[in-house]
Amino acid sequence: IFQLAFPLSYLVTVYRELRKSLIDMETMFSLQRVHSTIVEQPGATELCLDSLTRGGELRFEDVYFGYHADRPILRGVSFVVPAGKKVAIVGPSGCGKSTLLRLLFRFYDPAKGDVYIDNQNIRDVTLKSLRSHIAVVPQDTALFNSTIKHNIQYGRVSVTEEQVVEAAKKARIHDAIMALPDKYETKVGERGLMLSGEEKQRVALSRAILKNAPIMFFDEATSALDSQTEQGLLQSIRAVLRERQGTSLFIAHRLRTISDADEIIVLKEGKIAECGTHDHLLKQNGLYRHIWENQEGEGRFQNEASS
Ligand code: ATP
Repeated sequence: IFQLAFPLSYLVTVYRELRKSLIDMETMFSLQRVHSTIVEQPGATELCLDSLTRGGELRFEDVYFGYHADRPILRGVSFVVPAGKKVAIVGPSGCGKSTLLRLLFRFYDPAKGDVYIDNQNIRDVTLKSLRSHIAVVPQDTALFNSTIKHNIQYGRVSVTEEQVVEAAKKARIHDAIMALPDKYETKVGERGLMLSGEEKQRVALSRAILKNAPIMFFDEATSALDSQTEQGLLQSIRAVLRERQGTSLFIAHRLRTISDADEIIVLKEGKIAECGTHDHLLKQNGLYRHIWENQEGEGRFQNEASS
């Protein structure tokens, strides 16, 4: 019995870890290179959202952060995302956009300043309740070697088949799945059937819908696609957001994809350079307008080259 007990308990641990890691995968993939040292406060409470508003208000208050003490990444960033609104964060590569997401997930704590969700400091709440309130659609969605149903379920064992189908319909990938040889039971991923980049992102969107979190974070979710498939996916995302009415945050490269946001935050060298709506920022004649004109110019050039 003694001999058996050890491997059994070991297997139980491995199984638990495996399930946990499946659930945490969305986080892991979008937050690569992260070795978190965060520990939960003793007596941490559950994050509790104001039920009168759908979505939760996010507030970054004078946030300073660097991965290494001698290299500051964020230098006094403050902004508010009102509950139910759509906010986009844009800026040059490496300016700290994804770092904001890592801080929101509490993979790190700010060196100075605080992050609040509905007036609760995220340092004071349990990590599980914090992360259960945020769904992420990352840039590159990794599929694991299993059925498409399991890939959408994503370790959430209590989710029913009907819920999987409903989420896939909302993410507009249901018809494509029904055309696969074994429909929802088709093996995809490493050794199974390969999905296109767009289909993978629709799987990620289905996962986010199933998570049913009040805050949705799109981290360059469409930027690996060509502009035509990008438009199709954006339309689906907009339809999902209209129905949910939650709070949404977008990190984006192509400004065209977020020009309808309620507020656009332009980060530069760890600080907010400008913020406002698309029209407001174009009138400002600053960094946003500069990036916009460059990208629009590139688009024209590509169109001319391909015609
Ligand atoms: P991109 O648009 O290229 O995705 P970004 O604005 O999202 O960039 P971040 O990923 O937030 O930028 O990274 C900001 C800076 O921090 C970059 O210079 C990056 O190299 C650095 N960085 C990111 N993750 C780590 C890490 N785990 N350890 C050390 N430095 C890091």
